[in-house]
Amino acid sequence: MEWGGGRREGNIEDRRGLGPVGVAGGGIGAVVLAVIGYFVFGVPPETTMNAVNGAQQPAVQEGARGQVSDREGQFVDVIETSNTDVWGSLLAKHGVNYRPPAAVVLYDQATGTGCGTGQSAMGPFYCPADHKVYLDLSFWNELETRFGAKGEFARAYVISHEIGHHIQSLTGASDEARRLGARGAQSGSVRLELQADCYAGVWARHAPEASGGGIQISRADIEDGLGAAAAVGDDAIQEQAQGRVMPDSFTHGTSAQRMRWFGKGYDAGDPGACDTFEARTL
Ligand SMILES: [Zn+2]
Repeated sequence: MEWGGGRREGNIEDRRGLGPVGVAGGGIGAVVLAVIGYFVFGVPPETTMNAVNGAQQPAVQEGARGQVSDREGQFVDVIETSNTDVWGSLLAKHGVNYRPPAAVVLYDQATGTGCGTGQSAMGPFYCPADHKVYLDLSFWNELETRFGAKGEFARAYVISHEIGHHIQSLTGASDEARRLGARGAQSGSVRLELQADCYAGVWARHAPEASGGGIQISRADIEDGLGAAAAVGDDAIQEQAQGRVMPDSFTHGTSAQRMRWFGKGYDAGDPGACDTFEARTL
């Protein structure tokens, strides 16, 4: 993947180096309130609601806004900006006015969010209450070493998946998902996650052209993306962690499903192909 010529709109809030927040308020023990958009580890809403009840909300610490000077931060900026360029015109055709997330927040370890305390251990996530994507860049190491997903494109897929959750908050899909439940092979959570994978595929299809060639994505990159989608399937993670697969507790979909929906989005290049809520087979 090549991205050095990609535009950077600077929609980054940099909280790195500020230190974890919310410790004094019991925030680190509390978990994120709204269950949406975890890249890998879904937390059921009942658990999070209970955990947050009685716990003080952490103070939200604002980081510096705008351009970042390090390469890792700039990569995030390029991918976020590319999503803005791709989705602005694509969603207009579907009558949806795309607005970028309020920011992609880069943080270390733990940080206050509009949804409670965000922690690295959750993996990247989107908070619908403040419309921000939260990302601890140490996740990239985990993506490679724990999940075996290598390459920059795997990271771009993760970022675009999270922005996919932002799109869902604009289209109302998140509300629909909530009615369908948070766990199980056919749950609203699984449908939401697979749709976000599909949106990441749609982004990948259009990113090179929308960037005027500033971003280049090869067939090998797409294979890396499919590999990453497979690596973070519920069945693969459960097999690795517990030695068995329990579909009743699925939150994100199987490896095969995640690959299928990412591929579907890429092949179609159209968010209309991503209707996981109407699909008969996921
Ligand atoms: Zn997700």
